[in-house]
Amino acid sequence: METRILGTDDNSIKEAGEIIARGGLIAFPTETVYGLGGNAFNGDSVKKIYTAKGRPSDNPLIVHIADISELDALVREISDKASALIHAFMPGPFTIILKKSDKIPEEVTAGMDTVAVRFPENAVAQRLIKSAGVPVAAPSANLSGKPSPTKAKHVITDMTGRIDAIIDGGDSDVGVESTIVDASRDIPVLLRPGGITYEMICDVVPETVIDPHILESLKADEKPLCPGMKYKHYAPDAEVTVIEGDMAAVKAEIDKRLKEHSGRICGVLTMSENCYDSAVILHGGMTNKEYAKNLFACLRKFDELGVEIVYAEFENRDGYGLAIRNRLYKAASQRIIHVNTEE
Ligand code: AMP
Ligand code: MG
Repeated sequence: METRILGTDDNSIKEAGEIIARGGLIAFPTETVYGLGGNAFNGDSVKKIYTAKGRPSDNPLIVHIADISELDALVREISDKASALIHAFMPGPFTIILKKSDKIPEEVTAGMDTVAVRFPENAVAQRLIKSAGVPVAAPSANLSGKPSPTKAKHVITDMTGRIDAIIDGGDSDVGVESTIVDASRDIPVLLRPGGITYEMICDVVPETVIDPHILESLKADEKPLCPGMKYKHYAPDAEVTVIEGDMAAVKAEIDKRLKEHSGRICGVLTMSENCYDSAVILHGGMTNKEYAKNLFACLRKFDELGVEIVYAEFENRDGYGLAIRNRLYKAASQRIIHVNTEE
């Protein structure tokens, strides 16, 4: 299949909307990461999304809307708590899980009784969804198992030949996938941390709890609330280890480890001005927010540069900390070293 690269002019968006309405697949920019969209009311086009990504069919998709009024047709009920979250965080980098209506085909929800809905803030995403005239089912536009794409070139690398077109709308602002809250139950549960932080959510619904699996790996026989949790995500080819703590101790630990790997191509992902000898250094940013924005692009860059071993500096600095930890810990398959100067 030929995959076209489209711009964000009105003609391109109109054409992309028509392709989705006809059952085709379009990758598009959002404020979180690039999405791979198909007609959410058409089970066959949703199946094509799983095939294009190589995604396991038991991992459901998020349905994207371009106006709050579209929500009613997709869900069965909206509690007061859910309604408060919707009004506080939509449009934005926030996904809410509610009991699904009969209009949602089972392919979208992988047979679950609930549906994940998001109203993105990105103007190109909104224009595309409006142009399609239907809600757009979309996971992240990466091949399954690769870091989510935050630049059009990442999507071009993963999806060329697999989908109809890619809209190049520049870099994603947030850089990590949307915050997911399950509000289909009495007490809302944070299933995936993201740009809307747990603190922001608790300001609106203080009872909200954090799913304990966010920072852990699942045991073999455990069934997660959010099916995506059980898959190894965000993993680059390089072996990643997170070194977490104050920056002086982090630097000393990474220096020590780099000396042990002479002859291997090592890289360090930094959130400081630390310099390291004989390593490829990529700077993620000085705040958690900047680090989140650049994280996936840096992980992809290390692979492009043939780096075999990556050390990722991490010090918790602001509200994005939980989102970064969740992604970094997954990329590191739980290789996490805690260090501190006073120890
Ligand atoms: P992605 O956009 O690629 O990050 O994929 C969507 C994420 O939303 C996956 O981690 C799914 O497991 C999760 N998700 C989608 N629908 C539901 C649902 N009904 N209940 C729980 N998690 C969901
Ligand atoms: Mg994804």
